[in-house]
Amino acid sequence: MKLENPTTHPYSVSADALALEHFWMPFTANRQFKQAPRLLAGAKDMHYTTPEGRSILDGTAGLWCVNAGHCRAPIVEAVQRQAATMDFAPTFQMGHPLVFEAATAVAQVTPEGMDRVFFTNSGSESVDTAMKIALAYHRARGEPSRRLIIGRERGYHGVNFGGTAVGGIPGNRKTFPQLMAIVDHLRSTHDPARNAFSRGMPAHGAEFADELERLVTLHDASNIAAVIVEPVAGSTGVLLPPQGYLERLREICTKHGILLIFDEVITGFGRLGTPFAADFFKVRPDMMTVAKAINNAAIPMGAVIVDNRIHDAVIEATPVGGIEFMHGYTYSGHPMAAAAVVATQKLYRDEQTFARAAAIAPYFEDAVHSLRDARHVIDVRNLGLVAGIELEARAGAPGKRAYEAFVKCFEMGVLVRTTGDIFALSPPLIIEKSHIDQLVSMLRDALNTVE
Ligand code: PLP
Repeated sequence: MKLENPTTHPYSVSADALALEHFWMPFTANRQFKQAPRLLAGAKDMHYTTPEGRSILDGTAGLWCVNAGHCRAPIVEAVQRQAATMDFAPTFQMGHPLVFEAATAVAQVTPEGMDRVFFTNSGSESVDTAMKIALAYHRARGEPSRRLIIGRERGYHGVNFGGTAVGGIPGNRKTFPQLMAIVDHLRSTHDPARNAFSRGMPAHGAEFADELERLVTLHDASNIAAVIVEPVAGSTGVLLPPQGYLERLREICTKHGILLIFDEVITGFGRLGTPFAADFFKVRPDMMTVAKAINNAAIPMGAVIVDNRIHDAVIEATPVGGIEFMHGYTYSGHPMAAAAVVATQKLYRDEQTFARAAAIAPYFEDAVHSLRDARHVIDVRNLGLVAGIELEARAGAPGKRAYEAFVKCFEMGVLVRTTGDIFALSPPLIIEKSHIDQLVSMLRDALNTVE
């Protein structure tokens, strides 16, 4: 596929001309950033452009979300058209054609029998919505005591109260401890002692799933509503499921009547070369939470994809005429976001984006594993178009080395993401071999410059 060259964005005001104090930046060291801002002003295909006109190769698809590449014409045009046709329409007791088309477009790529779609505006909202659906489902079936949701250490499920509580990132939970009593956690599957430098799924650790049996014994299955895991964890530094782990988790959930929720916010829509991680691993969850690449991040949008039997149980528990599920967001199915979904899903289909990701994944794997001997590197792990490159932490200053290398990368012309001392690479799925070479060689050069 021929990609257009990056464009220079007309919005070229420099950081010096901006008042930076008003915007309280999310997940950012605000004071440090505002001392030396890194700004992006334009984007096209595989590149960002800075306000000064520098071209930056996007090694992160924004934040795991721009899978079709930036500012793709069919999506841009669909959003522009919708903005001028109907800016907003409610979906509470009303509807508009595009939101139904968007749900149908998503349902065309979901696993068989999982084609009910509840729209949200973000991954965080999708997670909290899925938690509510799990409780509503058990109540509808006459098991209201099933209220516990089991997450996993090092899991990331967004930042709303449900997702924060069921998530397993200590830093995210520290300020908001124990605000929800209905959660417990499995241990993380990360096991670098046995699995470092694995290509693809690590060999060791299927037995970590058996911990769910321990939690069932502790809490009793009659109190457990669901287990939620990221099939591939991204935000905590690319943690891959050991071979056999997800299958085992599925078996134990089924055995005890517990729902299995896959948080596919980063894996949904092609990241592993299949529509969903569920397809890649051939493990069928009961619900999937998605966002990001659902509409190429053109307009905020998320969704919960629900097994038809769960949907039907919730719907049928209320007499016709009653509102079956007391939940929803003003912007659930926003017309512009829905327009972007329809255009994005068509683009994925027309360009065979997911198959393309699968085809280039082996080249990506070889390239990232070539960093095995790069300075400071203690692990490389990968699957599909995701890679984690872990550095040895600098003594007494965890995260600092990777942060400095990240800044260096940006100066050199490539955007990567770090979490702690781990680089997470997740490029747009339209990446070419030459981009992969550039990404990896810049990363190596950046690592050579930091102590
Ligand atoms: N779940 C997972 C697995 C994620 O990776 C993320 C974000 O990266 C979220 C949930 C939260 O999504 P959002 O930031 O859109 O709320």
